[in-house]
Amino acid sequence: MPIYEFYCENCGHIFEILLSPQAEFPPCPLCNSQEVTKVPSIFAFQDKSARRAERERAILKRASDYLKDGKLKDAKNFLEKAKMYHPTDNIKRLSETLHKVKPPSGGFLIKPEVVITKQNKG
Ligand SMILES: [Zn+2]
Repeated sequence: MPIYEFYCENCGHIFEILLSPQAEFPPCPLCNSQEVTKVPSIFAFQDKSARRAERERAILKRASDYLKDGKLKDAKNFLEKAKMYHPTDNIKRLSETLHKVKPPSGGFLIKPEVVITKQNKG
């Protein structure tokens, strides 16, 4: 059976599943929504995961660079765009967290690692 990749319209989760071509779309494993879209499949499965992880790292790195420079607004805008084409949990989480952060009034430094850790606990 081929591996298909699905994108959840409800929560943005991307998941891969073994499915016969005739089978109905599976519900999202995270939120159980039926509103899932099939993402065009690439057969080099592991290769693709590696590339995706690499791209996520690059996106988080760039967002982190914005934050280190104190450019909260740029980081938010960048993550907004990144979320559209690469909606991983980490990117969405960081983006959502930044939207809750008040704009800095002075010399204010945010470390995205810290932001992510806080979000995980809460
Ligand atoms: Zn979902």
